[in-house]
Amino acid sequence: IKSKLPNVSVTIFTQMSQLAMEHNAVNLSQGFPDFDVNPELTALVKAYMDKGFNQYAPMQGIPGLRQSIQKKVFNLYGAVYDPDSEITVTSGGTEALFAAITAVVNPGDEVIVMEPAYDSYVPAILLNKGIPVFVKMKFPDYRIDWDEVKDVVTDKTRLIILNSPHNPTGAVLSPQDMKALANIVADTPIMILSDEVYEHIVFDGVEHQSMSRYPELKERSFVVSSFGKTYHNTGWKIGYCLAPRPLSKQFQRIHQYLTFSTMTPVQYALADIMDKPNLYLDLADFYQKKRDYFLDLLTGSRFRAMACCGTYFQMMDYSEISDENDIDFSRRMTVEHGVAAIPPSFFYHGNDDHRVLRFCFAKKDETLEQAAKILCTI
Ligand code: PMP
Ligand code: GLN
Repeated sequence: IKSKLPNVSVTIFTQMSQLAMEHNAVNLSQGFPDFDVNPELTALVKAYMDKGFNQYAPMQGIPGLRQSIQKKVFNLYGAVYDPDSEITVTSGGTEALFAAITAVVNPGDEVIVMEPAYDSYVPAILLNKGIPVFVKMKFPDYRIDWDEVKDVVTDKTRLIILNSPHNPTGAVLSPQDMKALANIVADTPIMILSDEVYEHIVFDGVEHQSMSRYPELKERSFVVSSFGKTYHNTGWKIGYCLAPRPLSKQFQRIHQYLTFSTMTPVQYALADIMDKPNLYLDLADFYQKKRDYFLDLLTGSRFRAMACCGTYFQMMDYSEISDENDIDFSRRMTVEHGVAAIPPSFFYHGNDDHRVLRFCFAKKDETLEQAAKILCTI
């Protein structure tokens, strides 16, 4: 069969987790927590299953969960979304990203993508016969040069994809970034896809810049989030998309034929647990402590920490240790030393020439200690 994605292999997350397992390595590669989900949340899911909430949910999500999302987004960002027509519950952030891209990208449309870019954006653009147009974030702080973005805008530009907090770099957008973006899209029909799955994981007192905070950006944006990152349950695959009514209408046309709807008892349980805002408000502090602990453990190692303003990923420069490229070095580190991390090259359409690796610190303290002990000897 002729492949629709000829240049795509098994994702780097799967490859590295597999390699880690084969070599019994500490796995700081694929992004997922190795600690338990809040037992109250799992008990709620079980209770709703036992009470018979086991059939199809409405296509756009159960009303209670859409209302909880509406309340949260209003309280945090002052943004008003109508839960009946502007909020859709999806099967993870991944489905929301695919549905949004499919909803608006037609053959020949250009989509501006910042590199490094999360691995699911480009395949979704290509499957819709769109043309990805890449702008590189600036090493080492991974800032966006908005003049470069402006330079690649054409009358074919349909969509700009942004991700803040950013995987894999941990960079976050600032209010100045939002202003620059607003200037570029003003008086154009360009839409925005804002991947905000790490919205609650922002460090050092900085505020998350949701696209929904800015009315002139909100009116043209799909805003995607994921419960998996917030409630430590990446395997439940549940997220949502916020978008103004005309965009949501097109989004839902795709969503209803991708998955139709998303797991019912989990939606009820999440709607209940969202009544406890501390669970997401305390998340930044929880992960900031993990980041700082991991970095403390690595003092004295030959890895140099890059800035990390959000997400649960820490980029580390290994240029003092090796001149190998990131793909070779990450494999050798897994096989010979027993710690797995992600080579950022997989987030570029070419390779990354910098000597950096991405480490996931959403791990128990023991796991971080085990990894750091090894990393300090390399
Ligand atoms: N976007 C980014 C930037 C991510 O890191 C992830 C998960 N790794 C997703 C989207 C997908 O989220 P989900 O697991 O809910 O599909
Ligand atoms: N988003 C996760 C990461 O960045 C992985 C998701 C996946 O395995 N597809 O590590």
